Amino acid sequence: MEVFVKDIADKLENLAPIEYADSYDNVGLIVGFLHQKVKNILITLDLTEEVFYESINKKCNLIVSFHPIIYKSIKNITGKTFSERIIISALKHDISIYVIHTNLDLIWEGTSSYISKILNIKRKKVLLPKKGTIKKMITYVPIHYANKVRNSLFEAGAGNISNYSHCSYNFDGFGSYMGNKKTKPFSGKKEVFNMEKETCISVLFPSYKLNIIKEALFKSHPYEEVAYEIYNIENINHRIGIGFIGNLLEKMNEYDFLLLLKERMNFSFIRHSPFTKKEIRRVTMIPGSGRFGIEAAIKEKADVFISSDLKYHDFFKSEKKILIVDVGHYESEKLSKNLLKSFLYKNFTSISIYESKINTNPVKYFY
Ligand SMILES: [Zn+2]
Repeated sequence: MEVFVKDIADKLENLAPIEYADSYDNVGLIVGFLHQKVKNILITLDLTEEVFYESINKKCNLIVSFHPIIYKSIKNITGKTFSERIIISALKHDISIYVIHTNLDLIWEGTSSYISKILNIKRKKVLLPKKGTIKKMITYVPIHYANKVRNSLFEAGAGNISNYSHCSYNFDGFGSYMGNKKTKPFSGKKEVFNMEKETCISVLFPSYKLNIIKEALFKSHPYEEVAYEIYNIENINHRIGIGFIGNLLEKMNEYDFLLLLKERMNFSFIRHSPFTKKEIRRVTMIPGSGRFGIEAAIKEKADVFISSDLKYHDFFKSEKKILIVDVGHYESEKLSKNLLKSFLYKNFTSISIYESKINTNPVKYFY
């Protein structure tokens, strides 16, 4: 079966909607064509020139990279930086580059799910939930069409709350209208006042599905002019956001926990605040740069906070209440390669999917 870049992009965006990406980020297809046929895929954490040549050797014409090579807009591409040289070579060799980054960080099935399994942690919720991920739609439907409209909203992705699907609130009442002479009213006559028995349907849906939900409403609703309201709501989805909070299946002392972290995750180097002398049970983690999560971890009464790119002064925030741990940026995110490989492998069996063999960590340790 032929696979095109668009098929890969659609699957990845279904897993991790582009709308979840941070405003500073640059995700999606950043070089190439959606209509290009994919031969093989190379997955990498960072796209370096070495990784680019690896893609040529492995006959991959699509590179899926976790970190973008372009963050800000560029005015010219002359090969003065490695990113520009990669873009030029990618265009010459017909290689597309796709990025899935902070949108992957935000989803429940992201890198955190892998890490928590490896560390035997039962995740409870995300550490920093993303705001504005849920909207509400209220619409008014002639009573005999209520089932049809409600079902089409469910099919489009509305009405899911945690482990429940098909959630809605409904009540019957009367709607009134009078169309002018240009109208073809669903019932009654034009230019005549009409009262219609209607069902009011209210559903929640993920904000990024707004257009799909509206489309489903317009397709299934029988009126010429559909009455509906969309609301932004403050409710939080505790499964969409950065990092995680969870409990170790068995509590352990700090030394043993760091040992477990080092061995299971294959970390070469761990920096940490002074031991608090408390046992570790409640674990918080933000893979990648996560110093902004320390306060939330303390507020959640976590025993440990794990992340990377922490500064000297961040470690003082521990105040013997929490063990603050820095495991390295590359190290904390390297599992995203495995995650993406197994996801794509499950969905696309007719192409070869490789993980880059290159360790792209630009930070080296001398010890
Ligand atoms: Zn990162």
